[in-house]
Amino acid sequence: MSVLVPTSLDAALQAMANAPDATVLAGGTDVMVELNSGHRRAQHVIVVNRVPELCTWQCDGVSLRIGAGIRYAEIERDPIAGWAPALAEAARTVGSPQIRHAATIGGNIGTCSPAGDGLPVLSALDAVVHLASSASTRNVAFADFMLGPKRTALLPGELVVAVTVPVLHGWQGYAKVGVRNAMVIATASVAVVTDVPTSSVRIALGSVGPVILRCPEAEALAAAHANFHDGRLGDDVLHRCSELAMQAARPIDDHRSTAIYRRHAVGVLVGRLLRRAFPNG
Ligand SMILES: Cc1cc2nc3c(=O)[nH]c(=O)nc-3n(C[C@H](O)[C@H](O)[C@H](O)COP(=O)(O)OP(=O)(O)OC[C@H]3O[C@@H](n4cnc5c(N)ncnc54)[C@H](O)[C@@H]3O)c2cc1C
Repeated sequence: MSVLVPTSLDAALQAMANAPDATVLAGGTDVMVELNSGHRRAQHVIVVNRVPELCTWQCDGVSLRIGAGIRYAEIERDPIAGWAPALAEAARTVGSPQIRHAATIGGNIGTCSPAGDGLPVLSALDAVVHLASSASTRNVAFADFMLGPKRTALLPGELVVAVTVPVLHGWQGYAKVGVRNAMVIATASVAVVTDVPTSSVRIALGSVGPVILRCPEAEALAAAHANFHDGRLGDDVLHRCSELAMQAARPIDDHRSTAIYRRHAVGVLVGRLLRRAFPNG
């Protein structure tokens, strides 16, 4: 096995061009588990956690660009938490402090599990994923990036360089349920983000489909009936949004949960998050 540790983005992309089938390793919290368990074999490994260009973020007050190598331990606190509170809330639910000090957002995007905690938030925020190879760069909407469970639009030789989310002005949050309260992969998860200036509500569901699912009908209903300035959304509309989210879910039975429970859980989580977004009834 060859292991390369590039220290610049150019060197990393050149290494990818030379070995397009290489295994990219960032924090290793997914990759090492797969290698150690024999579920993945690697002839070439390219370690990207010493590439400075991947480990920076920028915010101009309108949008926040987060390098793929930024760890969840940094995303869970200010200043990033102030600009993307739902992403920070999701970050705080990832594994344990030890995992969050190694796990990167680029790794979560690279694995692209429907249970990945960062992903419903990226979906709800209509994030853009920035990709690069030695030959070109491209920007892909998150909705077009995630193709299926652990299947992405990444082409051989491409790296995730960063992800950009808008800085919205409204309540936003994330919640998940699992088989216990901590150190748990989500059996169902929901992100809700609101934006007062555009009177919009966005709802994304995780772990209840092959990809992260949006709920356009529930979003439109909530936005049409919410009073954004007074923080009000009637109980009847809120319950209908929960029902619409349950209908949008496409869960399966697996070793973590049943489809019936998952569908019920996203309905409950959507109701809870909408009540937090609009607390005055
Ligand atoms: C004990 C434990 C608990 C966990 N708990 C959770 C949890 O609660 N929630 C959750 O969402 N996840 C959890 N995970 C999974 C994991 O921590 C996350 O998915 C994490 O974000 C992966 O990041 P990483 O940097 O470690 O990625 P790595 O393991 O290094 O890589 C993951 C995948 O992404 C690819 N990749 C990495 N960086 C790039 C890049 N820049 N460009 C292209 N591809 C790239 C890799 O090739 C690989 O396929 C847990 C893992 C463990 C071991």
